[in-house]
Amino acid sequence: MLKVGLTGGIGSGKTTVAKIFEVLGIPVYYADAEAKQLMNTHPLLIEEIKLLFGNDAYQNGILNRAYIAEKVFNDKQKLQKLNAIVHPYTIEHGKKWMNEQHAPYAIKEAALIFESGIQGEFDKIIGVFAPNALRVQRAMKRDGISYEQVMERIQHQIDDDIKIRLCDDVIINDEQKMLVPQVLALHEKILQLSNQ
Ligand code: ATP
Repeated sequence: MLKVGLTGGIGSGKTTVAKIFEVLGIPVYYADAEAKQLMNTHPLLIEEIKLLFGNDAYQNGILNRAYIAEKVFNDKQKLQKLNAIVHPYTIEHGKKWMNEQHAPYAIKEAALIFESGIQGEFDKIIGVFAPNALRVQRAMKRDGISYEQVMERIQHQIDDDIKIRLCDDVIINDEQKMLVPQVLALHEKILQLSNQ
C-alpha cells in the first residue's frame, strides 16, 4: 500500500481536498483533529501536559484550551515545549494508523510534513496551494481570527515557493481551477502507481 502525505499551508484547502479523496474511498488521517483527540485520551500524553501546565490544564478530563491558550499567549517557549511533547505521540499514532490501512493507498493530511522532517515516511507527497491573500481570508473567516493571528501561524510554515518544489504533485486551490478534476487525475495516477 502506498503512503501519501497531503500538505499545504493554513487555509490552502488541504482538508477540503482530503475530503474529496475520502469520497473516492481513500482512507484519510487528519493529523490536526487526531492530535486534539490524543490530548484528551492518551494517558501518558495527558500526564506530560499536566506536568508542564499543572492540573488546571484539564477540566473534567478534557483539555482546557482557553487555559492553555492564555498560558502560551505570551510564552513562546511554553508553546514550543507543548508542541515538542505532543509531536512524538501524534507521529507514532499516525504511523500506526497508516500501517493498519487496507487500500491501494492511504493519506495523512498534515500542515507540517516538511517542517516536522517526516517526509521520509511517505511514498509521495501532494501539496495544496492557494494564493496567500485567499488563504488569509479563508482562515480569518473559518477560525474567526485576526489578520495578525493568521500571519503568525503562516510564519511557522515553510514558504510556498519552497514547499511547492518539495512536493511530488501539486493541487491548485485558487477558486479558478476546478478542484475535483485535479483530485480525480491524481487519484488515477496513484492507483496506477500502486499497481506497479
Ligand atoms: P488549516 O491548515 O488552516 O486547517 P486547510 O488547508 O485544511 O486549513 P481547509 O480547512 O480545507 O484548509 O479550508 C479553509 C477554509 O476555506 C474552509 O472554511 C473551506 O471551506 C474554505 N475553502 C477551501 N477551499 C475552498 C474553495 N475551493 N472554495 C471555497 N472555499 C474553500
